Amino acid sequence: MVLNASLVDLPALPALEPDWQRRVRADRQLLFDIHHAVGGPFHVVYPEQFADNLRSFQKTLAGHRVRGQVYYGKKANKAGCWLPIIADLDGAVDVASEPELVHALANGIRGRDIGVTGAAKTDGLLRLAARHDCVVAIDALDELDRVAAIARNAGSVRILLRTLPPNAPHSRFGLSATDLDTAIALCARLRPRVELIGFSFHLDGYAVAPRAELAFDLIRLCARVKAQGLPLTTLSIGGGFACRYLGDDDWNAFVTHQRDDWFHAGKRFEKFYPYAQAPTGADMLEAILTTAFEGHTLANHLRDNDIQLFIEPGRALLIDAGCTVFPVLGYKQNADYGITAVHGLSMSVSEQWKGSEFLPDPILVPRNLDPAAEPIATCVGGASCMEYDVLTWRKVPLPQRPGHGDLLLYPNTAGYQMDKNESEFHQLPLPPKVVITPQEDRFQWRLDK
Ligand SMILES: *Cc1c(COP(=O)(O)O)cnc(C)c1O
Repeated sequence: MVLNASLVDLPALPALEPDWQRRVRADRQLLFDIHHAVGGPFHVVYPEQFADNLRSFQKTLAGHRVRGQVYYGKKANKAGCWLPIIADLDGAVDVASEPELVHALANGIRGRDIGVTGAAKTDGLLRLAARHDCVVAIDALDELDRVAAIARNAGSVRILLRTLPPNAPHSRFGLSATDLDTAIALCARLRPRVELIGFSFHLDGYAVAPRAELAFDLIRLCARVKAQGLPLTTLSIGGGFACRYLGDDDWNAFVTHQRDDWFHAGKRFEKFYPYAQAPTGADMLEAILTTAFEGHTLANHLRDNDIQLFIEPGRALLIDAGCTVFPVLGYKQNADYGITAVHGLSMSVSEQWKGSEFLPDPILVPRNLDPAAEPIATCVGGASCMEYDVLTWRKVPLPQRPGHGDLLLYPNTAGYQMDKNESEFHQLPLPPKVVITPQEDRFQWRLDK
């Protein structure tokens, strides 16, 4: 074997693991049994973690006595198992297609707890939304016309007007300031068929300040429009709640010392998701709610103006709630690092499909532990014939050489990684989702429906 001289210089980016995933890995049988049953790669999803994440947002709203609702941004993961949890916890779902809306209804979410966002929506989606009393975020003036026409037969529709963020003038979403004024005036005439309940936005990035500032501006706009006789009740600040995958020291060292030769074939990336950041999740909501304007917190302004706050986290409800397991097919060394081939495709790690890389280290689950093992460094390729089908370009450290029959676990893939870009390339079936639930002192598993 070629000596791995370069290993000492390579960074490790160990994922911060939730306790349940540690215990699933520590169970010597569970993952191998599942692999035996499904026969290929699979995703693991853990609804209990999703429930904890949802409760933490709800608690933060309640702690500030801010009325509101947490809408799960459904596009971040297609599994059905999250939906009954949301129904039981009185949460809500944000959808952008007819199948997403129907999936939510079919799993017990009431129409009045479904928000419909996205760019121009089909008539079918608008009709479904009207019939089920969903809240529709209107993105353009012509969409407002169509919603009004559909409401004539379908019944009244509750809407939000989505604003084009002033600090993101090139966004393709939302109404410009001029169109917003026109839309508000139109809504005054369309009552009660079209019932304007408030405004919404969804910002790129993960910063607290722009969200708090735009929210404050829109609270003032709500007050002005209310004075004109329109009873506005609601502000939606969208998603984009930050998440953490890695420890600060590991992440900072990586960002500071980054080198092309850390990656297979000298591959370069323009940017990475910020894998370590703060505040995250409900703490970020807390930071937004406690941002002060004119001597009062945003929470205060919301209460004083009797406005309920909608939030739409996707990734932040899924953080630590799933992982992806690939069977190892083989390993070889063409240079001083290895190339591991797995059963599965890089489409199951979506970050690879937007000119970036999913950076938390994959974790080897060996069939047999080798006590004499030497650590190695390896990139990870998929089972297709494409040179670019690479799950991990970075040379990642593993405690021993992976071999056929081992499993390679990609941690924390539930948010946008596991199923956003999957395809049946090579006629390979899509990896199934396996739902794991704690059952006294062991785990049970079933296939997601
Ligand atoms: C994608 C999306 C979300 C969820 O975004 P996250 O970054 O996953 O929190 C929420 N609202 C809208 C309108 C979206 O398009």
